[in-house]
Amino acid sequence: VSGLAETFKDAASTKTKAKKKSSTVKEVEKLQKNRELRRQKQAEKKEEKEALLTIHSGNPNWQFQEMIKDYQGKLEFKPLTETDEVTENHQITVCVRKRPLNRKEKLSKEVDVISVPRKNLVVVHEPKNKVDLTKYLENQQFRFDYTFDEMCNNETVYNFTAKPLVETIFEGGMATCFAYGQTGSGKTHTMSGAGHGREKGIYAMVAMDVFRCLRYPEHENKNLMVSSSYYEIYGGKVYDLLAKKARLRVLEDGKQQVQIVGLTEKIVKSVEEVLFLIDCGNNARTSGRTTANSSSSRSHAIFQITLRQGNSQRIYGRIHLIDLAGNERGADTSSASRITRLEGAEINKSLLALKECIRALGRKGSHLPFRGSTLTLVLRDSFIGDKTKTCMIAMISPGMSSCEHSINTLRYADRVKELASNDSLFE
Ligand code: ADP
Ligand code: MG
Repeated sequence: VSGLAETFKDAASTKTKAKKKSSTVKEVEKLQKNRELRRQKQAEKKEEKEALLTIHSGNPNWQFQEMIKDYQGKLEFKPLTETDEVTENHQITVCVRKRPLNRKEKLSKEVDVISVPRKNLVVVHEPKNKVDLTKYLENQQFRFDYTFDEMCNNETVYNFTAKPLVETIFEGGMATCFAYGQTGSGKTHTMSGAGHGREKGIYAMVAMDVFRCLRYPEHENKNLMVSSSYYEIYGGKVYDLLAKKARLRVLEDGKQQVQIVGLTEKIVKSVEEVLFLIDCGNNARTSGRTTANSSSSRSHAIFQITLRQGNSQRIYGRIHLIDLAGNERGADTSSASRITRLEGAEINKSLLALKECIRALGRKGSHLPFRGSTLTLVLRDSFIGDKTKTCMIAMISPGMSSCEHSINTLRYADRVKELASNDSLFE
């Protein structure tokens, strides 16, 4: 009996042992499975990281790129389109235009740090490093009357900026349109266009509209005559672009009239004649000095169209279209050469005076500091009177390497006309 009992005991213990063993095996298997899963996940993560690295290979700033993408993913983009109506009608209009990344910038994997989420908002995603070198973005929002993204063409920009100014001069007013910004940001592209037979610029589109308006019944019998001048201001001196860059003097007569003595003013009868003058002037502008871009970026180019009534010499209306000197020149105080430093100081002075004059125009009756620079002196009549309208287009390059200049440009434009920018982008 005892033997039997012994056998039973053995069997029972084997059973519990087996039970025990199976639960241990299960436990181990579970652990193993978990480990495998963890490894798999890690491998996936690593793969993802490697994939990102491959995508961004050669781009040291890919983390910023990803952060900007994340930020943009949370935004709803409702930019301006060409079918939008011109809703603003102010004496001072301030706009921003962002140009697309160019081929070279794309090749060098330049990160685009500018977003234009609304027709009047622009966001700069400024890349920053903490003390411990962690990367983060400082997102700064600016509001203007209109903001144009990289998809906008010159015609759309024109419709919202200079086109309303053509009406102003036919109402007997003085109008100015400025292209402001860093060298390479698109000032000349916007004003002069993209070269022969390609995209027209604001000069040409203004000329077209002037001749179109001239044929309107309400203007037809006013006997208006159209003429054009084109000159540049370099180092505070005026040069006639339609007379082999002859140097001209600026005089203020007893009646406080400012005149550029001997400035060529050509009577024009058609758009083609205006375009021909612009071509001649542009050729003169880029000839003589070293490279085309460096010379034109140091001078302000002023193209003007004047309406005179009948045979009287009285000005009926006038529009100034101005391709300003690169604003980075004004900031350049570190330059080794004395000439460049002096040039920079002169540009800085004129851009500051310009800002103050436009601000004074907005605050009726305040002191107008037009004698602060040659630029503001020759534009004096555009800063006084009720029938005066002005528009500034601040141009920005989209690249990360231009970020600081872009912020400077936006701050300047913001000071020209202060618009509250409290609206949250995320509501
Ligand atoms: P800036 O006159 O401000 O120095 P540019 O007008 O010469 O700058 O522009 C620099 C370069 O960028 C030119 O090659 C120009 O054609 C190009 N560019 C500027 N704006 C645009 C744009 N909106 N679309 C396409 N290319 C542009
Ligand atoms: Mg230019």
